[in-house]
Amino acid sequence: MPNRTLLIAGNWKMNNDVAEAAKLADELAQALPEVPAGVEVLVCPPTIDITTVHDRIQAAPIALGAQNVYWEAKGAFTGESSCDMLKSAGCTYCIIGHSERRDYFHESDEDQNKKAKALVAGGIVPVFCCGEPLEVREAGTYVEHVVAQVKAGLEGLELASADQLVVAYEPIWAIGTGMTATADDAQEVCHAVREALVELFGAEMADGIRVLYGGSAKPGNIAELVAKPDVDGALVGGASLKAADFSEMVVKAAE
Ligand code: PEP
Repeated sequence: MPNRTLLIAGNWKMNNDVAEAAKLADELAQALPEVPAGVEVLVCPPTIDITTVHDRIQAAPIALGAQNVYWEAKGAFTGESSCDMLKSAGCTYCIIGHSERRDYFHESDEDQNKKAKALVAGGIVPVFCCGEPLEVREAGTYVEHVVAQVKAGLEGLELASADQLVVAYEPIWAIGTGMTATADDAQEVCHAVREALVELFGAEMADGIRVLYGGSAKPGNIAELVAKPDVDGALVGGASLKAADFSEMVVKAAE
């Protein structure tokens, strides 16, 4: 099996004002003065908090990411942030294609494709999310659904190395619901994602790209999830808002 560094990534979503973000970032920096070998830690605060969190975690082994980006470099795009802006604020990762953006903000696969290309070209690692709604899971066509999202969202992306891309499989029915997919469910789809990555980028590159699971991941299930051969960490929503839970996940992932 290739030696992929596990990634435990926190998605704070639209939580924490500037003071709250500073407090959580301080708590995380204190809880994680170092991270176990073989694990990388990432936090993705709301855009308004990025600079504050950057200042607070600078000395800690915690990477910083954004939750959204716009693919144009600059101009009249009210409310958006460009890749270079995120980079100038200290971001090295950016979540794209989260189901909440796809559903509530009507973002398409084509949008994700433009975002992924802009990020890779600009030197930020996309954390590309994909996942099926409950009705697709129940219809039994979830693998095809997720593979189609991966192929459409990442088609034509040019990678020089495997660490330029992370994919996160997040079944929508498991996000924020407490209903985690079993580790076997996660492995089945993460493996299918990797096969799609082989088609897109070739076997050697796909072997090194990290594929995360997301959806009610927590201290109690992280070890079982990352024990699966194609699950290389987790994208964590709710549990990333408590420093104790998030740091416990980091430690448990490494065990
Ligand atoms: C998420 O939305 O990225 C997520 C995984 O949320 P939660 O962990 O709360 O299910």
